[in-house]
Amino acid sequence: MGDIPPFFHSLEHDEPFQSCLTCDQSFQEIDAPYTVTKVFKGPECVFEYAMCLPCRQNMAESFSEESRKNISEFFEGSANLINRSEQIGDSRNHTDWTRHCATCRTPLSEVIDYSVACMGFGENMVYDPFPMMVCSNCEQKVQERLSKSTRDQWDKFIFDNFEGPPADALKPDGVPILV
Ligand SMILES: [Zn+2]
Ligand SMILES: [Zn+2]
Repeated sequence: MGDIPPFFHSLEHDEPFQSCLTCDQSFQEIDAPYTVTKVFKGPECVFEYAMCLPCRQNMAESFSEESRKNISEFFEGSANLINRSEQIGDSRNHTDWTRHCATCRTPLSEVIDYSVACMGFGENMVYDPFPMMVCSNCEQKVQERLSKSTRDQWDKFIFDNFEGPPADALKPDGVPILV
């Protein structure tokens, strides 16, 4: 474990994320891990949020069973998660974990649009399998396997939690698989 690196801080507030987007509970007070997700379009972070694990599970459960199966099959179908754990498992430098797409292994330097996610517990970063980077190509592949009800559910989540531009910016790509 170690501090949450600035890369995963809130761009909006210029400090580590303090509370869950959905339930508002402080990460210092709840006894559960949380994830920070950021979506990049080129060099620009267009979307970011942090969510506690219970809320994340609730959201995943709102997705259709078929979609959940497709997402987990996509991850399980790539042995890379195990390989990267063997290769970089001891590293506490987040850039080692995000240098390649977690599923197709394309280097970040060759990727334009991508998403990253990390896991935190209180003020600390939790490693393996997070932090993770997934390129937009891989996200697109999962996207095609998601049901309409899951995409609708995601749109509702965006509508309920964000106002204005972020929702529009996300529209073309839809549900990030690192939710
Ligand atoms: Zn929550
Ligand atoms: Zn990829």
